[in-house]
Amino acid sequence: MDKIDFRSDTVTWPTPAMRQAMANAPVGDDVYGEDPTINQLEEMAAAKLGKEAGLFVSSGTMGNLISILSHATRGDEAIVGEDGHTYKWEAGGMASLGGIVPHPLPTDEMGRMDLTAVTQAIRPDNPHLPHSRLILVENSYGERGGYPIPLDYFAAIRAIADQHGLAVHMDGARLFNAAVALGVDASHVTQHVDSVSFCLSKGLCAPVGSLLCGSADFIHKARRVRKSLGGGMRQAGILAAAGLIALDEMVERLADDHASAQRLAQGLAQIPGIVVDVTAVKTNIVFFSLADDVPHSPKDIIHALRQENIYLGGSGPRRFRAVTHYWVREAEVDKLLHTLHTIVTR
Ligand SMILES: *Cc1c(COP(=O)(O)O)cnc(C)c1O
Repeated sequence: MDKIDFRSDTVTWPTPAMRQAMANAPVGDDVYGEDPTINQLEEMAAAKLGKEAGLFVSSGTMGNLISILSHATRGDEAIVGEDGHTYKWEAGGMASLGGIVPHPLPTDEMGRMDLTAVTQAIRPDNPHLPHSRLILVENSYGERGGYPIPLDYFAAIRAIADQHGLAVHMDGARLFNAAVALGVDASHVTQHVDSVSFCLSKGLCAPVGSLLCGSADFIHKARRVRKSLGGGMRQAGILAAAGLIALDEMVERLADDHASAQRLAQGLAQIPGIVVDVTAVKTNIVFFSLADDVPHSPKDIIHALRQENIYLGGSGPRRFRAVTHYWVREAEVDKLLHTLHTIVTR
C-alpha cells in the first residue's frame, strides 16, 4: 500500500493473487443466477458457516439491512445493542427503509446484552405495542475493540428467541476474527443464529463484498429484497473471485493481525501519556487514549502522524482507534510506536 494506514481494516487493498483471479474470473449475469464465480462463492460461504445458502451483497450494511427486511416487516421491533453496528452505524436503515423499530439495550464490556433485559424487552401481544420479531447480535463486537464474544451467550439468546418465536441475526462483519480468536470453526460461531452476514472487504482484503447466509427459504426471500434495494449485480463474479481467495487463503492469517494488535497494545503501554487496556485487546482493534496531562490534542497528533505517512483514526475526544491488517505488520506497528512516542513526549 502507498501509506501506513491504521484507520481500519476496510482500507486493505486486494492481494496480488486476488487481482490475478479477478482478471481471469469466469462470469455471467448474476441476476439470472448465471455467474459461476458468484455461485461458487455463495456455496462456499454457506458451507463454511453451516448454513444452507448464501447471497453475495455489496456491503456489510446491505447484508444486515436485507436480513432485517427479510426477517421483519413494518411495525415490527428488533432488539439490538445500543452501540451495535446495525443500530448505531448503519444510517438508521432498518427504520428509514424498513419501518422496523429498533429496541436498543445497553451492552457489557464484551458487547453482550443482559439476558434478563432481553427477555423483558419482548412485548406481550397487545395492540398498543410493536410486535417483537428479531434479536440482532454481533461477533466480534466492534465497539468493544472487536471483542470475540464466547458462544454460550448466543446459545442463551437462541433459547430466549425460541421461547418467544423470534429470529436471530448475527452481524458478523468480522466473524472470522472472532472464530480465530475463540479457536473454533466459524460454523460454531454461527450455529445459534438464523442468519449471519460477514465482510470480505475488511481483514480478508477483498476489494468489495459481503455474504449473507441462512436457510434456503430465507435466502430465497433475501434475494428478492436485494433486488428491490437495487442490489442485484450482473458480472460481479469479478468481485466474487477475490472473495474466493479471501475465504481460501486469508482466514487463518487473521491470527497474525491479532498478534500485531497485541504488539501494538503492549508497545503503547510503554509510552508515557498513553493509556491503553492491553487485556481488552483480543482481535485486531486497539482503542487507546491520551492521558489528561498530555498537552497535545488528538487532532494535532493525527496531523503530525500524517506528516510521516501514518494514518490513524480518532474515536471520541481523547481516544484513538488503531486496526491491524494484512498491510500493517510488525515493521509498520513499530514505526507507529516510535513516531507516536516522539510526538507525544515532545
Ligand atoms: C464494517 C462493519 C459493518 C458494515 O460493513 P460495510 O461493508 O462497511 O457496510 C457492519 N458491522 C460491523 C460490526 C462492522 O464493523
